[in-house]
Amino acid sequence: MQINRHFLQLSENYLFSEVAKRTRTFQAQHPDLTVIKLSIGDVSLPLPAVVVQAMRRACSEMGHRQTFRGYGPEIGYPWLRRTIVDFYRTQYGVKLDDDEVIVSDGAKSDLSNLLDIFDTKVTVAMCDPVYPVYLDTNLMLGRQPQFFRATVANNFLPMPSAEITADIIYLCNPANPTGVYYNRAQLKQWVDFARAHGSVILYDAAYACFINDPSLPRSIYEIEGARECALEICSLSKMAGFTGVRCGYTVVPKNLVTTDGISLNRLWQRRQSTKFNGVSYIVQRGAETVFSAEGLAAVERNLAYYRRNVKLIRRTLDQLKWSYVGGKHSPYVWVRCPGMRNAWECFDFLLQETGIVCTPGIGFGTAGENYIRLTGFNSYANTRLACQRLLALAQKKH
Ligand code: PLP
Repeated sequence: MQINRHFLQLSENYLFSEVAKRTRTFQAQHPDLTVIKLSIGDVSLPLPAVVVQAMRRACSEMGHRQTFRGYGPEIGYPWLRRTIVDFYRTQYGVKLDDDEVIVSDGAKSDLSNLLDIFDTKVTVAMCDPVYPVYLDTNLMLGRQPQFFRATVANNFLPMPSAEITADIIYLCNPANPTGVYYNRAQLKQWVDFARAHGSVILYDAAYACFINDPSLPRSIYEIEGARECALEICSLSKMAGFTGVRCGYTVVPKNLVTTDGISLNRLWQRRQSTKFNGVSYIVQRGAETVFSAEGLAAVERNLAYYRRNVKLIRRTLDQLKWSYVGGKHSPYVWVRCPGMRNAWECFDFLLQETGIVCTPGIGFGTAGENYIRLTGFNSYANTRLACQRLLALAQKKH
């Protein structure tokens, strides 16, 4: 039996299982203490009511012969793609064609499946620390990525440099795990660099919804020239609580063509229609409602809730004088381990002293060795309790 031996290169899902194991052990030793997970990357608020109503209606249509729907278009129903195009026009001032938006079951699948349309020999570059899916999907194909490091020295926002020679460049904006974001001028440098080098940017906009400053770019297509070099991978997961429902989309501009004139849009549509049978009708009706005026208002309310949590975390870190980045226009805060601890030591310290669970930064790459990630996705009550415990800990130490 010949297997894909590249899979053996992947590290075990050690990080999350180890976090869970240490948390379980601690909880067993302290059964009466509320353990607070400031590690969660999942949303905690339920779906907006209007979205649930739309899915209920769609579900009931499926139970009647006249309105039942079987296989839908593999790339998404035209009314949903049109709704997304309208959203880009009204919210971002970006003009897209309906067939440049290709609906999917989420960003994770698209980020990995997109690799199908590129040559096996392409080279890739990504940030360290990084969302592990970019790395693992390339390791599975036998590729060793180049890394550009996000460190204090570059304000955690690495910029293009002569060392980056890759065909594919992953950018996540705002970034997971650091929570930092590129402004227009910085993104323009990446776009210009990609165009000058003939590289393609895979732009992960899963957290674009957290940006609430119109002077910041929420889509890479707000940057001139991006239509010639970038694909934008989007998700309703964090925006509208679709982590369990599953819906996202990727924008593949028709201007994106190879030097011999082959359209990436055509290849991606071809790939999807061969290997994917589309997102369920019920989910797509829910997704359509997310972009309605009522849906967007509900989305904003939920985002405001998470933003309030992150703001509280930042304020607490300021009081503690712990250094950190992120947490503005992002649910993530990237915290330098206090007292020269490494990531796992800091994890154990916080758990033992406060019952707070964080994510050790090392799980996102070697640049995360002395960092932990905190998130604003827990409830406000729990976030507040966690912050009180952190402040009490600081008092105790003095
Ligand atoms: N991209 C980033 C940076 C993420 O952090 C996540 C999920 O946490 C995803 C993509 C996956 O999104 P989806 O739920 O749409 O698959």
